[in-house]
Amino acid sequence: MATPVSADLRRRGALIRRLLRYREMLPGSLVFTRTRCGKARCRCAQGGPLHPVCQLVARVDGRTRTIYIPEDLIPWVQERFRQHQAFLADAALIGRINLELLAAKKARRRDPAATCKGR
Ligand SMILES: [Zn+2]
Repeated sequence: MATPVSADLRRRGALIRRLLRYREMLPGSLVFTRTRCGKARCRCAQGGPLHPVCQLVARVDGRTRTIYIPEDLIPWVQERFRQHQAFLADAALIGRINLELLAAKKARRRDPAATCKGR
């Protein structure tokens, strides 16, 4: 018969193995904007319409990182954003399971005085 602890351990193992799926995940979001291309003779330098561009914007180590994303890579990047969200959800689940395992570990202890109860 499966105890709650062994069920939690199995569920955590499955989640840990699933993390491999997220190895290409990307943080951040896409920002669509318009800009000048920098060519002196271009229409955008003559007051014409600006060029649409897509940027990945991510916060890394407290700084904002911006990377231009070519149009054909947008779906690829968006899939990596979805992987990142799934990773965060799975990481939160693993944390919840670990809290349950800690509570069960504490409950199994023989010496009730060894707990931090009352603090
Ligand atoms: Zn231009």
